Amino acid sequence: MKNGVMMQYFEWNLPDDGTLWKQLKDDARHLHDIGITAVWIPPAYKGTGSNDVGYGTYDLYDLGEFDQKGTVRTKYGTRQELQEAIAELHRHDICVYLDAVMNHKAGADRTEKCMAYPVDPDNRDQPLAEPYEIECWTGFDFPGRGDKYSSFKWHWYHFSGTDRNEADEKNGIYQIVSEGKAWSIGVDTENGNYDYLMHSDIDLNHPEVIAELNRWGIWVARELELDGMRLDAIKHMNDQFVRQFLTTVRSELKRDFYAVGEYWKEDLTALEEYLGHVDYELDLFDVGLHYNFFQASQAGREYDLRTLLDGTLVRNHPTLAVTFVDNHDSQKGCSLESQVEDWFKPSAYALVLLMREGYPCLFYGDYYGMDGTPSPHRGTIDTLLNVRRHYAHGEQELYFDHPSTIGLVRRGDDKHPDSGLALVISVGDEGDKLMNVGTQHAGEVWHEVTGNRSETLTIGPDGNCVFPVSGGKTAVWVKKPEEEQQAT
Ligand code: CA
Repeated sequence: MKNGVMMQYFEWNLPDDGTLWKQLKDDARHLHDIGITAVWIPPAYKGTGSNDVGYGTYDLYDLGEFDQKGTVRTKYGTRQELQEAIAELHRHDICVYLDAVMNHKAGADRTEKCMAYPVDPDNRDQPLAEPYEIECWTGFDFPGRGDKYSSFKWHWYHFSGTDRNEADEKNGIYQIVSEGKAWSIGVDTENGNYDYLMHSDIDLNHPEVIAELNRWGIWVARELELDGMRLDAIKHMNDQFVRQFLTTVRSELKRDFYAVGEYWKEDLTALEEYLGHVDYELDLFDVGLHYNFFQASQAGREYDLRTLLDGTLVRNHPTLAVTFVDNHDSQKGCSLESQVEDWFKPSAYALVLLMREGYPCLFYGDYYGMDGTPSPHRGTIDTLLNVRRHYAHGEQELYFDHPSTIGLVRRGDDKHPDSGLALVISVGDEGDKLMNVGTQHAGEVWHEVTGNRSETLTIGPDGNCVFPVSGGKTAVWVKKPEEEQQAT
């Protein structure tokens, strides 16, 4: 089978110059050549301004087409440029997943009056006052778009909470009061009830809202010929809304429609419960694995590598795990800052790209760089992507048997000539590991491809070989090309 790789094609600090869609179009062939099979694109609709990363969503139907919020384009370009980029990606057999923000809206056109009360931010079930009238930013008329694509206008009763009372200019978390309205069930239980995240929180139990968001999902999937979605902030959304959204969109489209959700929680049990609640309709990012990488990179030689896959989705639900090293939220200076240290990144990428389990997601920032600084990892990632395509096949065996040196082998298969590999990761001193790559490789000469080791090894008659690794590094061993087998 094909070893797919998703790429998250943005980082938080991209310049507000409207060029990402053009860059992505020009990059499509290269992405195909390095083995990218799907691209997760940022929220592609109008946010609070042209500099909005996209999560301050204003109008889901404005894909950079209407003069709203002081700009026609989004941070990434115009709708026309977006569609050209998607067409080019599809020409190169690359799927496109749109980042879908359906938890909240921002940048309302006008204020409205409604009844509400502030709640304790640490316990959203705890009111801090009796209900009173507030003036909140919940009126969305979309004057620049009018009724094109949708005539739906948003009002206070489509929301469950908001962040400011304009009447007294006070910020807080205000729960909107109306008959039958409450924080949603089916959300994370942190802070009492974690329905509310930011801006004006969409009431996903309101029938008009459900119908409108379903309609948007079908519309945008068709307009942009999307292959799937990355669902933002699902920890804060009614899980039954998410489940019905995906089944509705899929049944309307009558085709495959991939989905991965962002449920940002280290706790494997919470992720497992969520998957059950949504009938396994979507994959989840493996947040536990990310934090294991982060902790390993912080602890260095103190980290016990045997535990690297403990509590991860990829170990417990391998077919539902999207494995990743970092993203736009975990990168330095961002809301969920937990960036994996540079010294460990090659090891983390080696593991997610070369192990059999999981659907790996490559972060733009780790490949192209962040905040204008080029990434030091691009060359290594290119190498690992190449190894993934050509060598990471067949039976796998893990050798997670030493606190500071672990390894894994892939024994290769008949469909991929010369496939098979040995990976060794160290967080301590230089070391080595005796591993078995199978008797079919007996007598072959193997070399290391990340550049950390220069010697060659000969696989023993029983398939055994001792594979060295430099201290604190990763080593990826594969068969040396035939024409070079005699060298060294
Ligand atoms: Ca919510």
